[in-house]
Amino acid sequence: MGTTEAESPSLPAVDGMHGVGGSAWIGHVQHDVSSLAAVAPRERFTRICALTGAGISVAAGLGTFRGPDGRWTMTPEMERAMHVQLLPGNVDALWSVWGGMWDVAAAAGPTAAHRALAAAGASVITQNVDGLHQAAGSVGVVEIHGTAGRARCLDEDFCGWTGSADEAKRADPPQCARCTEPARPAVILFGEMLDPEALAQARRLAAECDLFLAIGTSGRVAPASWLAPTARQAGAFCVNVDLYPDGNPDPAFHARVVGDAQDVLTEWAAA
Ligand SMILES: [Zn+2]
Repeated sequence: MGTTEAESPSLPAVDGMHGVGGSAWIGHVQHDVSSLAAVAPRERFTRICALTGAGISVAAGLGTFRGPDGRWTMTPEMERAMHVQLLPGNVDALWSVWGGMWDVAAAAGPTAAHRALAAAGASVITQNVDGLHQAAGSVGVVEIHGTAGRARCLDEDFCGWTGSADEAKRADPPQCARCTEPARPAVILFGEMLDPEALAQARRLAAECDLFLAIGTSGRVAPASWLAPTARQAGAFCVNVDLYPDGNPDPAFHARVVGDAQDVLTEWAAA
């Protein structure tokens, strides 16, 4: 998508401006600013929805997946192991990656950005599986990629057990608490269907908000890619907060804030 399209005044930008009056940017599509508080003052919005990705958890010591230092870039064999078709042979690798991530997150605790979203009362849709939004106090978090904090029985046709990862990890290797078959982390794997209920919840939150924030994610891969357009079509103001923007601004967003989510959201929530 080119900037020509992004800057077109015919985009439904103005539809999202109800109740956000008084600023010079109304009716304009403004990109690459440095302050979220300047383009979307928190007090002007009553129903804030945040879509978050790996970038928000980097400050907790969790790496991203793509990019030069990304988890999959560094260990492509681990990325290949994350495929549903490799079950049950890859279950050790799954626990190594996701169980390891969970432990790092639990030890670090939520970041300032997680806390800022919780303090702002934002609804959260996350691609992360690290539990840090809940640890920050956000409620009703929609985890579209599942969570490393829970486990599932591998013998689902027979048993169907799902429970806390801690419960599964009482055995080594982790096992189902009901039937003692091996257990796996309740994280969505490559090639695996997303939970329709989580997707429906995500769509509802996006459609009901008046401010939609995408944080620490490009938002360009489905299902994240249709959440901002859903929010925008329903009249929300849409902002992407991105530390390392990649390519042209996504025309689904009214503005792109270039900066570290830790600083950007802390300033925004305190303003
Ligand atoms: Zn079982």
